[in-house]
Amino acid sequence: MKSSRIPGFYNMSVEQRRELLKKELGFSSEELSDLYINEPLSIDTADKMIENVIGTFQLPLGLGLNFLINGKEYVIPMAIEEASVVASASHIAKIVRSSGGFRTEATERVMIGQIQVVGCPDFQTAKRAVLNEKEALINAANAAYPSIVNRGGGAQDMEVRILNEESDSKYGQMLVLHIYVDTCDAMGANIINTMVESIAPIVEELTKGKVYLRILSNYADKCLARARCVIPPGMLATGDYSGEHVRDGVIHAYEFAASDPYRAVTHNKGIMNGIDPVVIATGNDWRAVEAGAHAYASRHGSYGSMTTWSKDNDGNLVGEIELPMSIGTVGGATRVHPMAKLSLSMMNIESAKELAQVIVAVGLAQNLGALKALATDGIQKGHMALHSRSVAIAAGASGEMIDIIAEKLIELKQIRVGKAKELVEQYKK
Ligand code: NDP
Repeated sequence: MKSSRIPGFYNMSVEQRRELLKKELGFSSEELSDLYINEPLSIDTADKMIENVIGTFQLPLGLGLNFLINGKEYVIPMAIEEASVVASASHIAKIVRSSGGFRTEATERVMIGQIQVVGCPDFQTAKRAVLNEKEALINAANAAYPSIVNRGGGAQDMEVRILNEESDSKYGQMLVLHIYVDTCDAMGANIINTMVESIAPIVEELTKGKVYLRILSNYADKCLARARCVIPPGMLATGDYSGEHVRDGVIHAYEFAASDPYRAVTHNKGIMNGIDPVVIATGNDWRAVEAGAHAYASRHGSYGSMTTWSKDNDGNLVGEIELPMSIGTVGGATRVHPMAKLSLSMMNIESAKELAQVIVAVGLAQNLGALKALATDGIQKGHMALHSRSVAIAAGASGEMIDIIAEKLIELKQIRVGKAKELVEQYKK
């Protein structure tokens, strides 16, 4: 990818965008062929992916442009139904690239498997018994999934916790084993579930208790990705608003989210507006990412912001995000859904670690897009203008009528389905 900066992409027809993409990415027609067919995910494949299949469900796939991350250019496929998200991410990415782009990093890809043991005659003795056999248990877990060890990953460490030790606890006492597994480029649920199920009988024997749950934890706090951007205020100026006004507004908005869960939920929803579309486009499990991200936002004791925004000594706006990112570039649907395969190759992603970093960078961009709008004109101006075409379609417009009705709605400043229905009726007459 020479550059993810493609001026005028927004104004092109879908066909022109595809042609340009082919040229820019050096793709053959064959490689992009799934973009051209109505049902890239065939019904036969769908029928093998889940149960009781009756069809497939499509979402628009747009490209987040202008992303420069650690000096690498990315066009980012985003699958989403909501207007203005892709435009906003691309707008912010354009600003950030002018100040050097996003800087990102990721921890090792260590995921957690849990084993729950209840009814131990003595929980402290049971804990010691398990810890004494830590190495043997790690070896047994690895023996249950040797291929991940051969790939350079596998079970690495283990911890044991006792929950509800207090005598007045509402819930029963239990021993919980955490097994830490490097899942390489896989999200790892199946790898980990296989491991914890296989060692459960040994754990029962050691603890003299009864094992119930054996499953991955979606609170993947050892599999983190981080992104950061630094923006001189001059680059944030918009309309009548100075860059300093926008910067300070963004920081105030962050402080609001950091102090109030009612605001934090919406603030974080805006971040997931960027994250989920990439997770979905790459065939990853967005419920796992959502659950982990929201739990991580509560790690300090109350639900807060997934990002931080501050001002550095030079007056620049500094944005940071850190989230668990339990995604993969192999496994699950990533290599089953044709569009997921295409999305991964469009980004030229080489590892799950790299994908995790791209995803959080999009989340950070999306957050700034929303906060910048909120600190200036408000969210409705940009959002509703882009949403107007969906409103026109919902009111029954089709073909060339869609843009005509949408433009009229914007002109009248009444982007409502009721008004659109009136206009559709008038147009038909
Ligand atoms: P899979 O089991 O589908 O695939 C992972 C496999 O891919 C590995 O075991 C490995 O098998 C192969 N592989 C090929 N190349 C690599 C590589 N570079 N790094 C790692 N593995 C590689 O996927 P996951 O275990 O990741 O499971 C993800 C799925 O599990 C998702 O669909 C998710 O929805 C689902 N799930 C989620 C749960 C949760 O979140 N709580 C619970 C249960 C399921 P080999 O070495 O044999 O080739």
